[in-house]
Amino acid sequence: MQESELTARRMRMVEEQIIRRGVRDSAVIEAMRRVRRHEFVSADLVESAYDDSPLPIGFGQTISQPYIVASMTAQLRLTEGAKVFEIGTGSGYQTAVLAALGYDVYTVELIPELAQRTGENLFRSLEGRVQCRVGDGREGWPEAATFDGIMVTAAAEEIPPILLNQLGVNGRMIIPVRLGMTDRQELVLASRTAAGVSYDVLYQVRFVPLRREPSSGPQLA
Ligand code: SAH
Repeated sequence: MQESELTARRMRMVEEQIIRRGVRDSAVIEAMRRVRRHEFVSADLVESAYDDSPLPIGFGQTISQPYIVASMTAQLRLTEGAKVFEIGTGSGYQTAVLAALGYDVYTVELIPELAQRTGENLFRSLEGRVQCRVGDGREGWPEAATFDGIMVTAAAEEIPPILLNQLGVNGRMIIPVRLGMTDRQELVLASRTAAGVSYDVLYQVRFVPLRREPSSGPQLA
């Protein structure tokens, strides 16, 4: 598929899926225009890269739907230079959007093969703004904490307390939470102020599960 057609599709995606659905943050909109989503999917899915849906990326995982990426990013309300922790690097698309906004990104992925493939992809295009690691993101990234923003891109059964502790004052965390024994997931925004943490339930989502570390323990790389 021609580069000009992919660009046209990306611009249309931003108009129809992002702006029309109410994302207002102009920096986020610009980042969504710049980051080439088709470079984060396999060759056979390039034609679908700007569709209004998640797509498979191997290992049973998915690249998130563009609207969800834009909406979650805007909810963090960060500015250039902010420090962000992302759980679930996956394809690296969300990571690349955060980096395009000028944030310093720390991202963790549980599946080593996925982290390696994506890490190579990201490191090629994103000179040093992004640090990737293999491990269980529920442990956070203690050496780099605290963070201005934390984004979890897999559905948790509860909000990990370690992550809340790594959220700085005025920091915001966005996390999909699965409710009890149901399939229902809600996107939760946790905001820390000097007075404590408050929670807002935003809207229903559908993410792959946030899994526990392999029994052999986390592998750091
Ligand atoms: N942000 C990614 C979404 C990938 S799907 C993208 O846009 O492509 C969620 C990812 O979270 C998967 O790659 C999965 O392997 C990873 N994951 C699940 N549990 C995890 C955990 N405990 N720690 C780190 N990554 C985890």
